Amino acid sequence: MQPKFSDNAKDLMGKRGLKEADITEVISSAESTNRKLVKDGINLAKKRIGEVTAYAVYKDDGEVQTAYSHRMVLGEPVKTTDEPEASEWVCKHCNEKAIQGSANMTYMGVTRTGPAIVCPKCGDVWLEEYLATMTIAAAEGLFEKKKA
Ligand SMILES: [Zn+2]
Repeated sequence: MQPKFSDNAKDLMGKRGLKEADITEVISSAESTNRKLVKDGINLAKKRIGEVTAYAVYKDDGEVQTAYSHRMVLGEPVKTTDEPEASEWVCKHCNEKAIQGSANMTYMGVTRTGPAIVCPKCGDVWLEEYLATMTIAAAEGLFEKKKA
């Protein structure tokens, strides 16, 4: 699949410091391994590239809708006592409905538990855009200030 980048997508990626080549790699890696989330013709893929985990949200025809990244390293999913809530996403690899779960996230030597989309079968973990760009970005900023 050849990703297509609209001017809007390019603009957003530029602001977020993401390269077209990186997002293309995220998508081609997800397509070749079948490890991605899907819902209604929309795909959510991720890949660790250098210091960040980069994400691409794209349609089945390759049109990139949004892209984002976070620096924290996602770890294992964490079981909570609460009954897990279903997410809108399905893990393509397992054909299993993903849940609104929790996962370990490590940044600058500190591991915390945070909300994440989790496949209950393979244990793969994803962060949605609003979390990666708001909550997680703020947490990363706080850590960096403390260590500076
Ligand atoms: Zn899975």
